[in-house]
Amino acid sequence: MRDLIILGSGCAGNTAAVYAARANLKPLVVAGHEPGGQLSLTTLVENFPGFPEGIDGPTLVDNIKKQATHFGAEYLHGTVIEADLSRRPFRLNVDGEWHETKALIVATGASARWLDLPNEQKLIGHGVSSCATCDGFFYRGKKIMVIGGGDTAMEEANFLTRFGEQVVIVHRRDEFRASKIMLDRVKENPKIELLTNTVVEDVLDASKQIVTSVKLRNVKTGERWERAVDGFFVAIGHIPNTKPFRGQIDLDPDGYIVSKGGACTSVEGVFFAGDVEDRVYRQAVTAAGTGCMAAIEAERFLEAEGA
Ligand code: NAP
Repeated sequence: MRDLIILGSGCAGNTAAVYAARANLKPLVVAGHEPGGQLSLTTLVENFPGFPEGIDGPTLVDNIKKQATHFGAEYLHGTVIEADLSRRPFRLNVDGEWHETKALIVATGASARWLDLPNEQKLIGHGVSSCATCDGFFYRGKKIMVIGGGDTAMEEANFLTRFGEQVVIVHRRDEFRASKIMLDRVKENPKIELLTNTVVEDVLDASKQIVTSVKLRNVKTGERWERAVDGFFVAIGHIPNTKPFRGQIDLDPDGYIVSKGGACTSVEGVFFAGDVEDRVYRQAVTAAGTGCMAAIEAERFLEAEGA
């Protein structure tokens, strides 16, 4: 029986582990299917406070893990496939083995939705990105493509015009999910081109480990062509990793945890941290911030329970 289990080893989970371990809670961190979270997919992180030269994403998240381990946090490789939060202690099935805990922090994150193109995964961090705020800076004076027709795609395209010489948005339909104001902003931006009714068939060139061009197809005419780009930003939404908690914690229609104030979920003793609840900011520093909040809440909860 554990006092505290933390699910997820991204910036949120690892920060929660630092705080909880320093509070002597000896947390067990279940690393999840993507150890290190989204930071492990990035290259240089230049906006995490305290690193004037920037820091490599995987190094940053690994450093937080080392810090947590130093104070007594334990890490377990694996993913929660089933959870029983109906009574305490909570029960978690990690790859077939059940664990019990008095308190729980869900920091399972949200995974970027990808297009599943043949070469997409091979080029993540080498021109393919899901985060303009993280990676836009590297495309100063370059040609950038953004995929999607929602608010995120519009926001990222606008943001990327600060760096890119040209930004083209590729959307599979000619109607947009994006709000009118965001779409208008895009249409008024002379650096942005809108390419509608168009899908991406692949991103090249994996053999050079750099993005050079994209294969496109017009869904109305069937026409196929290749377009040269340097940066390829996929902005087609995120999927919060909350499947094991469906029907147990209050989730919104898209599956994000609904905050009940602070880091509290609808279940007493279960707290959240990071992108599993956050569809707005999604930054390493905000994830770390909520990780800290969740650990403090968990500590207070356990103290009140006399644990
Ligand atoms: P979204 O609204 O769900 O839009 C996703 C877009 O990606 C849609 O245009 C969709 O096309 C496209 N898409 C999905 N799967 C695709 C695929 N396999 N291939 C090609 N295109 C695909 O997601 P979002 O833009 O991330 O926004 C999520 C939520 O956050 C929304 O509620 C949004 O309003 C909010 N948000 C707000 C702001 C803001 O107000 N500042 C900024 C960002 C996000 P279809 O339209 O054809 O389905």
